[in-house]
Parts: sequence; C-alpha cells; structure tokens
Amino acid sequence: MNYVFNPPAVVSAPVVGRSERFPVHRIYCVGRNYEEHAKEMGFTGREPPFFFLKPADALVAVEAGQMGNLPYPSQTTNLHHEIELVVAIGKGGRNIKAADAAAHIYGYAVGLDMTRRDLQNDMKKQGRPWCIGKAFDHSAPMGPITPAQQAGDVAQAAIWLRVNGTDRQRSNVRNLIWNIGESIEALSAAWQLQAGDLIFTGTPEGVAAVVPGDVLSGGVDGLAPLTLKVAPA
Ligand code: MN
Repeated sequence: MNYVFNPPAVVSAPVVGRSERFPVHRIYCVGRNYEEHAKEMGFTGREPPFFFLKPADALVAVEAGQMGNLPYPSQTTNLHHEIELVVAIGKGGRNIKAADAAAHIYGYAVGLDMTRRDLQNDMKKQGRPWCIGKAFDHSAPMGPITPAQQAGDVAQAAIWLRVNGTDRQRSNVRNLIWNIGESIEALSAAWQLQAGDLIFTGTPEGVAAVVPGDVLSGGVDGLAPLTLKVAPA
C-alpha cells in the first residue's frame, strides 16, 4: 500500500509485565458516573449513562516508573483533573450484556480525563458539543495497562489523586453509578466495541484546577500508578 504521505504511528500503551504494547483504537469516556461528582457539577446523581470520545492520539501513555509530561493546553485558564479507572477492551462486540462484559476486558489502567473546564462550560451553556473542552491534544494521560488476571478486584478498589502530595480526589470504584459491566453494555449498544478501545469510566468528586509545575500522582488499588508533571505550553 502506498499513501500520499506517511501515515501516523499506531497509538499504543505499555502493558505491565510484557514487552508487547496495547494498540489503541478509540477512547470512550463515561460522563458523570459518580454521584458526588455529578452533584459537584450541579446535577442530582443517577441519570442514564452518556458518553463522549477523545481522539486516540490524545493519549499520553506514561511508561512504568516514569514521570509523564503534560503540556498545559491552549485557550484555557481552568484545566481540571479527573482521575478515572480505564478499562482496556481486548475483544470487541456489540450488544454485550453486563454479565458477559468481563470476557471482553483485556486489562485496566489509571487515567486522567483532563478537561478545559472553562471551555466545556461555555459549550454546555450554548448547547454545543464538548469536544473543545474534552478532546484536545494530550487530554488523556494514562499509566501502564495491568492485565485483568493480575489486577485484583478492581470493582472494589480505592481510587485517588494527589496534586503536589496533597489529596484532591479519593473514592472507591464501587461508587460508580454505572459499573464496568453496565457501562460496557450501554456503550456496545451504541457502538461496536473493538479490541484496542479504552473506556474512561468517570471521575469521583474533588475535580479542580492544575497549573504548570504541578505534579499529579494517581492510582487505583491493584494497578500500576500514574505520575505526571504539568509543563508550560
Ligand atoms: Mn471524566
């Protein structure tokens, strides 16, 4: 096959304990999936699951034991962190039932759904798409993927984010409104999931702004942690 210019490299993430990398297809995100976060955003809590996407090349794949680098994005003065459990799909499908979802999961990772909150809020007010607030370059930092068999009981795991050593977000994955299986069921009813898809499952309460120089360190019990520094643009 010849192309009119060289195609971009495949976006990929490291896998704990393996030299092979996980090739990324799409990045799906679940909105307002923890009740206390929904409340802090001005909503009441449980509502039907809804989704948005980030481009695959928005991924900032942070290698095991490394400090990642997050360039401060343009056009914002309110860059928010959202720590999230990420589900990595290893086997695709459509209309996957929640009870069958585990068979489609390759592994799990710790991710950040970085958000230009000021731009997202502008778009919300105008009833316009969230892309500029959510789907910008470098908006999806993520640590190494831990294969599901090595990950422990992720559904009951603590999830947290510290900024410069101080707790900002702390909850438990059991507080998800739509759990991992239910989220996969709803997503796969709307899109055909494929191997390589990543699902950012939503953030707990405590979202707030970061500035250049801040060091973010996040985790989910049983998974490889994620550390990165916000750099000047
Ligand atoms: Mn989010």
